[in-house]
Amino acid sequence: MPDEHAHSGQPSQGTTNLIPGVKHVIAVSSGKGGVGKSTVAANLACALSLTGAKVGLLDADLYGPNIPMMMGSTKGPEQKDGKILPVESYGVKLISMAFLVPEEAPLVWRGPMVHQYLQAFFRDVLWGDLDYLLIDLPPGTGDVQLSLSQMVPLAGAITVTTPQEVALYDVRKGMAMFQKVNVPLLGIVENMSYFVCGHCGERTEIFSYGGGERAAEKLGLPFLGRIPIDPAIREGGDSGHPIIVADPASPQAAAFRDIAQKLIAAMSGAGEGSPPIESLLKKIKQSFTNN
Ligand code: ADP
Repeated sequence: MPDEHAHSGQPSQGTTNLIPGVKHVIAVSSGKGGVGKSTVAANLACALSLTGAKVGLLDADLYGPNIPMMMGSTKGPEQKDGKILPVESYGVKLISMAFLVPEEAPLVWRGPMVHQYLQAFFRDVLWGDLDYLLIDLPPGTGDVQLSLSQMVPLAGAITVTTPQEVALYDVRKGMAMFQKVNVPLLGIVENMSYFVCGHCGERTEIFSYGGGERAAEKLGLPFLGRIPIDPAIREGGDSGHPIIVADPASPQAAAFRDIAQKLIAAMSGAGEGSPPIESLLKKIKQSFTNN
């Protein structure tokens, strides 16, 4: 297991790099489950791939590894020369905890295995050269995030949230954790932001308005965009056809594409960037005391 003390306040970046052929490793995180983190990861991976980039997607959400289902990949990976070949779907190379952990394995077994599994995913998978590798993390702030930051240099982390205050509380905790291990914070995505009625076109803010943007502002982080709550997005996930490929002309797909463009900009150094660590930690502390 990772030694937590090795992290506190120390830069952990650059200690090892198990995947030197990958240019940008981006973690997709969330403070809590069910906010649409995997949906966002799958759609962003496809959106990046549609720009012509070489993209990988690593499903490290060992408590609910549903990327294969969302990406429509029904069969597991194959072997080549004693290594694992990622499955390919919509041009994205993917590997999932679901391929390794039997569905019926009790949850308590999974935690302690995380470090080894992650290591195998980097060391034993033939990722080849990639422009972007997105990592779908388990929700919350646990061992996976810490292990990850020891194994590969993370270019940054994005956090997915829903707009209501209870979800935002967890966002701040998650962000503070990434800061602690010196992972740049690329910004906040607000999912299930609003609902547009398919019949009358009226817009309803189901989980209140603009919470993600307010949290981003408070923390001085980029706000990457909002995704509507929409049956087509859910159907895309259930049927293995992410909306970005199933209906590229839809406004929902455009929302994902916008966020992908912001990530590309951030990776090329043209984005807003994350604020200096001292100012961010101060803001996070303040936002806790203000509530
Ligand atoms: P998480 O990874 O945060 O646990 P998921 O991506 O698995 O969340 O999403 C949880 C459920 O919500 C899934 O059924 C998914 O299809 C659905 N969902 C996610 N985002 C949206 C959205 N914007 N509109 C409608 N349904 C969504």
